[in-house]
Amino acid sequence: MSTPIRVTVWNEYRHEQKPTHPASTIYPEGMHSVIAQGLREAGMEVRTATLDQPEHGLTDDVLANTDVLTWWGHMAHGEVRDEIVEKVHARVLEGMGLIVLHSAHFSKIFRKLMGTTCSLRWREADERERIWVLEPGHPITNGLEPYFEIPKEEMYGEQFDIPAPDTLVFISWFQGGEVFRSGCCYHRGRGKIFYFRPGHESYPTYYQPEVRRVIANAVSWAAPSSGPAFAYGGSRAIHAKESLEVLPAGHAQ
Ligand code: ZN
Repeated sequence: MSTPIRVTVWNEYRHEQKPTHPASTIYPEGMHSVIAQGLREAGMEVRTATLDQPEHGLTDDVLANTDVLTWWGHMAHGEVRDEIVEKVHARVLEGMGLIVLHSAHFSKIFRKLMGTTCSLRWREADERERIWVLEPGHPITNGLEPYFEIPKEEMYGEQFDIPAPDTLVFISWFQGGEVFRSGCCYHRGRGKIFYFRPGHESYPTYYQPEVRRVIANAVSWAAPSSGPAFAYGGSRAIHAKESLEVLPAGHAQ
């Protein structure tokens, strides 16, 4: 692709601003800054947006000029305004990619797109996570070994109440014995969605090269494609190119 992918990295940005929280030390400029830096190093055109900005930083102009949106949220999902969620949802159906990170499994936008509770089991106990590649031919796994490990992470365990992914790219094993579907691809309308599990705010996960590689690969995979645009509605039989024109409203089929 000759023009860089335009990415907006969205972050709730609350834990990092609490001086007593480990995230304030690990991510002093916010997780969004670290995620954005990784994507810039991968050659992408990146801006950031956070919850407390006007319109959560997701104005119509920003959304219209975003190819792929990444989303991290945890403690303030309920503060994300419904009208912004509706706009993001509409953009995904139009073709904007969406990368849903870690505790954003419970975000309004992911739950709306999935149609299920997106509930899961969790435990914070500094456990090792081993992430296995299930689809070595998938672009999201480019450059990875058969598995990689994160030394300390929060555990997320099955059952994860999501629809079966279109493609399940990763599965995680945790030291405590659980497994989890940690890399899930979906299509909704023209849009591509990838859920990627790692990234608890108390660990330096977004500095890890393999994690950054996966997020960059996922952004490339989720970037809009240039397939045909259909006019929906009543249509004439296809005998000539012009017959794809939509018939006037109310025309009997
Ligand atoms: Zn977490």
